[in-house]
Amino acid sequence: MIIERQTMMALQQLHRLWADGKAWRPKDYPLAEVFETVPGVYSIFGRSPGAGGDAWTHLIIGEERAMVVDTGFGIGDLRGLIESLTDKPYDVFNTHFHGDHTMGNVQFDRVYIHRYDLEPLQKLMTPTAREGFVPDEGEFYTLKDIPPFKPYEILPVDEGYTFDLGGGETLEVVHLPGHTAGGAALLDHKKRILFSGDAICGTPTFIFGALPEGEYQDYYTVHAFRDALEKLAKRVGEFDVLYPGHNYLGVPNEIVPQELQVCESILANPDQYDDMLGSIGRTGMVRQIGWGSVAYSKERL
Ligand SMILES: [Zn+2]
Repeated sequence: MIIERQTMMALQQLHRLWADGKAWRPKDYPLAEVFETVPGVYSIFGRSPGAGGDAWTHLIIGEERAMVVDTGFGIGDLRGLIESLTDKPYDVFNTHFHGDHTMGNVQFDRVYIHRYDLEPLQKLMTPTAREGFVPDEGEFYTLKDIPPFKPYEILPVDEGYTFDLGGGETLEVVHLPGHTAGGAALLDHKKRILFSGDAICGTPTFIFGALPEGEYQDYYTVHAFRDALEKLAKRVGEFDVLYPGHNYLGVPNEIVPQELQVCESILANPDQYDDMLGSIGRTGMVRQIGWGSVAYSKERL
C-alpha cells in the first residue's frame, strides 16, 4: 500500500536524522521535533492532534531574511521556537488553507497565501474553528495546549510573486491547484528546493472529498492539477527535491513528470485504479506511477 510504504520511508529518514544528531525536541516547545535537514532549513514536525496528518512547518533561512512555510496545528509556542532558531526578520506563507497547515497563524501578525485560498482561510479565522481539530483528551494534546485566538492579517499573492531572502536567494510562488484551489508551492532558487505543501507529496495528492463554498470550484480538480503539472514539468531543472507538508522530505524532482503521467492516465480512464483509500468518511481511488500518486473521485475530475 502506497501510504504505508512512504510513511515507513519517512520514519526511517527521521530516525537517521536523530542518529546523526540533526534532530532535537526543543526544551520550551516539547510538543514538536526539530530536524536540521539541510543547511539553512529547519523542518519542524508537528504531531496531529486528531484530524489531518502529522504536518511539517519549514523554516528557510537566507542571508538577510527568513520564511516560515505553514504553521501546523498551532499547538504550543511555535513563534517562540521560530525566533529561537533565527534572529532574522521573517515572513509566514501558507501553502494552502487547510487547518493542519494554518492553525498556528494566530501566533503571527500576518500571513501570505495564494489568492484562491483567501476566502476559505478567512472563514477558518474564528475563535472556535481550531477546536474541532483538538480533542478534549487527545493522545498528545488537549484544548489547553492551543494558544488563545487572535485575528491576523492575510495577504493574498498570485503565481510568480517573489520573496527575497537576500544573498541572491528568492522564493517564487508557484500555483499548484488540485488539492485546494489556491494550493501553492515556494520555489527556492538558491537551495533548489520546492516547498510543495500538500499539492505534491510522496504520499498521494488528495483530490477528493468535500469542497468549501465559493469561487474557484474548477480548481479543485484533476484537470487543474494536470495543467499546473504540465507547466511545472518544464521547470524541473530548477530544483532537485521537494519538501512537502507531510511525510518524506527530499522527494526527488522526478515526481513531477510522474505525477503528470498519473493525472493524464486518470483523465484517460477514471474507472481504472490501483488502490482505494478512505479519509473523512469518503473514499478515493488511487492511481500511481513511480513516486507520483493521486487519490481522486469522479466528482472532481
Ligand atoms: Zn495537510
